Amino acid sequence: MLNIKITNNHPPKPKPAGPLGFGRIFTDHMFLMDYTEGQGWHDARIVPYADLTLSPSCMVFHYGQEMFEGLKAYKSADGAVYLFRPDKNGERTNATNDRICIPQIPVEDFVQAVSTLVNLDADWVPTEPGTSLYIRPFIIATEPFLGVAPSKNFLFVIIMSPSGMYYAEGLKPVGIWVEDEYVRAVRGGVGFAKTGGNYAASMAAQQKAQKEGYAQVLWLDGVERKYVEEVGAMNIFFKIGGKVVTPALNGSILPGITRDSVLTLCRDWGLDVEERAISIDELVAAQKSGALEEVFGTGTAAVITPVGRLRYQDDVMTIADGGTGPLATRLYETVTGIQRGEIADTYGWRIRV
Ligand SMILES: *Cc1c(COP(=O)(O)O)cnc(C)c1O
Repeated sequence: MLNIKITNNHPPKPKPAGPLGFGRIFTDHMFLMDYTEGQGWHDARIVPYADLTLSPSCMVFHYGQEMFEGLKAYKSADGAVYLFRPDKNGERTNATNDRICIPQIPVEDFVQAVSTLVNLDADWVPTEPGTSLYIRPFIIATEPFLGVAPSKNFLFVIIMSPSGMYYAEGLKPVGIWVEDEYVRAVRGGVGFAKTGGNYAASMAAQQKAQKEGYAQVLWLDGVERKYVEEVGAMNIFFKIGGKVVTPALNGSILPGITRDSVLTLCRDWGLDVEERAISIDELVAAQKSGALEEVFGTGTAAVITPVGRLRYQDDVMTIADGGTGPLATRLYETVTGIQRGEIADTYGWRIRV
């Protein structure tokens, strides 16, 4: 149990008037906690949102020892504020931390820090349908030292950003570029960890896909460039010949919490579900034979993103006639319904703050 000291922002910032967009507006407060070798995590505090002051020699700037998480708070029609499976973000934080030599944070402390901050800034959780408060916990290596070694000091920060509706006109399918030159991650590396370096590695391919008119990249495995891995900041699902298929977590894929929730729902709905290796050739063949019924991405930001078009080399594959399939729609409605308190939560996923 953390002892969190709270310093209020006086006077509070004005609330945003125009459209929220994503990730550019921040709430009144942020959470901070320091780590010092020999002392552990200490000085948990909530302070007014402000710039950080750091030495330019801090190790995070040189070797990228950094992790982040992403989750959301939702407000229901009766004003209750909910988090969705925040313990899973705490568990994943520690899986990432282990891989990149950042000390563990007890999951209860992680959830307490998030809940306390959300509670304090609860009037920043937007209420319009489809909106939410995006929560970004992250940890950076703060020891001022240019040597390559795990840092002896860290800073754990949580900031929050009210975010607008992802789909203003209902679920809108996107076009995806299958990348066969650049790779994102390899087994044994940090692909399963939520660390900024994975995103630095992804940007050149993302830029290339956008130039070609595609919203995001579908990554292939880093060794053979043959097996499908994931999309940008989303895991990927296929419905092939009636079965729901997604790449198995093999070490180079980020274990999404939305992915896990979707797998649970599909299994409970009695669908045939497979987590396994899926080659791009299998997908091309399934599309040609008409067996590829649906493709969609899963992630906290958009929940479910239908894929209407997949481009692999010279093949442009249209999926579900370029529209949104029934499974993607049902999953979107169920997950967001549970998140907002509109559907009974039989899984214990929804936490009231
Ligand atoms: C965060 C993330 C996801 C999605 O995870 P969720 O827990 O569902 O939000 C998928 N892929 C990558 C690379 C990510 O960083």
